[in-house]
Amino acid sequence: MTFENLNLLPQILVSLKTKGYTQPTPIQEKSIPHILAGKDICGSAQTGTGKTAAFAVPMLQLLFNSKAHQRKGIKALILAPTRELAQQISDSFRDYGKGLHIRHTVVYGGVSQHGQTNALRSGVDIVIATPGRLLDLMNQGFVHLNTIEFFVLDEVDRMLDMGFINDIKKIIAKLPVKKQTLFFSATMPVEIKKLSDSLLKNPVIVQTTPASTAAVTVKQYVYHVKSENKKALLTYILTKEVKPHVLVFTRTKRGADKLAKSLSVDRIKAEAIHGNKSQNARQKALDRFKNRNISMLIATDVASRGLDITDISHVINFDLPEEAETYIHRIGRTGRAGATGIAISFCSPDERGQLRDIIKLTKNIEVVEGHPYDASQSSEEPRRKNGQQQRRSAPRRNNSGSGGNSGSNSNWRGRRTNDRSYR
Ligand code: AMP
Repeated sequence: MTFENLNLLPQILVSLKTKGYTQPTPIQEKSIPHILAGKDICGSAQTGTGKTAAFAVPMLQLLFNSKAHQRKGIKALILAPTRELAQQISDSFRDYGKGLHIRHTVVYGGVSQHGQTNALRSGVDIVIATPGRLLDLMNQGFVHLNTIEFFVLDEVDRMLDMGFINDIKKIIAKLPVKKQTLFFSATMPVEIKKLSDSLLKNPVIVQTTPASTAAVTVKQYVYHVKSENKKALLTYILTKEVKPHVLVFTRTKRGADKLAKSLSVDRIKAEAIHGNKSQNARQKALDRFKNRNISMLIATDVASRGLDITDISHVINFDLPEEAETYIHRIGRTGRAGATGIAISFCSPDERGQLRDIIKLTKNIEVVEGHPYDASQSSEEPRRKNGQQQRRSAPRRNNSGSGGNSGSNSNWRGRRTNDRSYR
């Protein structure tokens, strides 16, 4: 399948070529024809599958064909959970819509509304927004949704996690009944299914990979390590890597700041992004990371959502997430669009329950043993069923001394033993 087979406008084909896309991803292949045919879509797709283009490209084409710029009012609304994702979607519309004269703008909180209201006043066809700021601007009379023809809800599961359900309902109440709705969520728990049922009319269900699975291009490792040694282990791993470009997840904002600070002592250039930082500071850190001025970005889950940085070499879970599905979202930041990536998780003895939940979702996690901070034999380790917890009788080293880390164990990944692999 090629983009040409999808009957796209020549201008769009040029834009996709300029982006370096040679063929549609599965979600694009499955969604684009239906969206062009005017159908509602319920898409269950992982991050990094190319779903932004899957909805942006056909919407741009339909808006162009219907001469949207000659009609007054906003024709398309895209709701996204985070500022960063909204900005990325906006960048995608800019890139895919070159030469189509379809105007778009992005609105989100954390920055002055002045630029946003100016753009809205000058007239736009597409608005990409986070729910809170959009409602705010609606209440001030800057945004009217009565002319909407396309409505996209992106990363719905995350929007619900973030407590946006009431805002979303208020926004939906202002939309015209007749519209095309595109609904995307990485996971489809009951609550989300209910919302999609209430919103979509005879939707085409598009499911590329089963929800809650990790991309096969991501190699996953877990290191058992005591909490107090996590930072030392991180430094150890990084110094063994050639030009790593790493996204690190911490559980708390404070933890992200603390880690960034302590890494600077080791001359590792890292910056933290989280909800307490201004939008400007977040964008600057993101730009520095994208431009490789810094090798590491430390993020909390909310801040990381939707980050589109194509060449992340490693995702490191400094802290394991509370919910296993968050793990899938996190590691979806690497191994995007077919590239390979490495996901490393640090598991302290008190996080083993979380690790077990993760293993239930993704079976391909390999345990790394023999690293200098290995705490896999900690007495706190709970027993696993079926004897999986038993280890090989082959001698293991404690690796605390310099002589203990030679030979095949000198690799930073330490020793990987198949019987300890959670396949
Ligand atoms: P998304 O899931 O929309 O966040 O997209 C993930 C990444 O895949 C982004 O960096 C896109 O630029 C990239 N991408 C989207 N579609 C394609 C394609 N057909 N070929 C190659 N890369 C793509």
